[in-house]
Amino acid sequence: MINYKKDFEVLQKEVNGSTIAYLDNAATTQKPKQVIEAIRNYNKNYNGSPHRGAHYLSIKATEIYEETRKKVSEFIGASKSEEIIFTKNATESLNLLAYSYGLNQLKEGDEIVLGITNHHSNIVPWQMISEKTGAKIVYIMSDKNGQLKKEEIESKINKKTKIVSVSHVSNTFGIIHPVEEIIKKAKEFSATVIIDGAQSIPHLKIDVSKLDPDFLVFSGHKMLASMGIGVLYGKFEKLKEMSPFLFGGDMIEYVDLYKTTYEEIPYRFEAGTQNVEGVVSLSVAIDYLNNIGMENVENKEKELLKYTLSRLKDKHFIELHGGNDTSYRTGIVSFNIKDVHPHDVATILDEYNIAIRSGHHCAQPFMKSMGFNSTCRISFYFYNTFEDIDRFIEAIEKVRGYLGYES
Ligand code: PMP
Repeated sequence: MINYKKDFEVLQKEVNGSTIAYLDNAATTQKPKQVIEAIRNYNKNYNGSPHRGAHYLSIKATEIYEETRKKVSEFIGASKSEEIIFTKNATESLNLLAYSYGLNQLKEGDEIVLGITNHHSNIVPWQMISEKTGAKIVYIMSDKNGQLKKEEIESKINKKTKIVSVSHVSNTFGIIHPVEEIIKKAKEFSATVIIDGAQSIPHLKIDVSKLDPDFLVFSGHKMLASMGIGVLYGKFEKLKEMSPFLFGGDMIEYVDLYKTTYEEIPYRFEAGTQNVEGVVSLSVAIDYLNNIGMENVENKEKELLKYTLSRLKDKHFIELHGGNDTSYRTGIVSFNIKDVHPHDVATILDEYNIAIRSGHHCAQPFMKSMGFNSTCRISFYFYNTFEDIDRFIEAIEKVRGYLGYES
């Protein structure tokens, strides 16, 4: 098995006598040395304000920025680089859509269809739009494993539906939702489809030219790049229907005393000085992932998932979520330990240098629909190893004993 950890110094470093078994990749991934070095190199040699200057550094920064736009468009199969808008993160991309698309397009009597498994970033902006426009929010509910139900997709998307916004992969249970079916159904009613790819773009090979959503969003920091860089993909025809989100420098064509004309797409959606350093990190992150091959990323995570489920399934003190069908699961495993609060599990595991997540995972409506408040969650990336999982299993076997329960 290839040792990818060699490129991730933080994963090799000893902290209190051992390395960190990092199992919180759904929250954020670690950065390989190639990404870290590229950020340093950019700041050392090329830092300049893009799009604005006639001098060498500004031209260089612009080149890097625009070449990355093209690279991102190729990575996800967009038809042209103008369909890629750089944002801060998936959350900002979704807010941009809510304000620039939802606010203009919706009215009372319309419905916004959301997946019950959506992350808060794909719920709260729509609640704001619902309050402002009078459009109603409707949820596609899930089965007990967290998969969006077929009959719900069939019934909730109908002639009142104007926007459907769902996560491709849920960040709580790692379930791959049937977005192909959802998109097909939405098209029957000419509804606009937004796919939250925050948990899919980093882990699966996605081609928007085949999937055919109207919009897709994701964050760089969940795919080896820096925090503070995100992407909004939009079909060019759809982007043309949208008004700008933020207003100011760089997004204008001409400013008069009382009136302004705006730049072309995509620049009109990128107000102010942009995060070129973040864009550099995303560029190198994409190179890194392409080098491994997204199919290999997916396969490696699937192996880790299967191994984890096989090691957990007989443990009587574990309640596992998400079901056994690994054909529609990614490398995320949510679970609870009998009698122990997830936060205590995470704190105890931290003593063994094992990084996991506990809580509601920014998906409170989903958690509530499943009948619990919080879970423990481990999540993999291609650099994780079977040894990380062995360490995790060994540690969870001690948790109940640690708190004085019979194991
Ligand atoms: N959607 C999903 C499915 C996520 O998992 C996350 C991050 N946990 C987000 C959206 C928001 O991402 P960010 O915080 O980077 O904007």
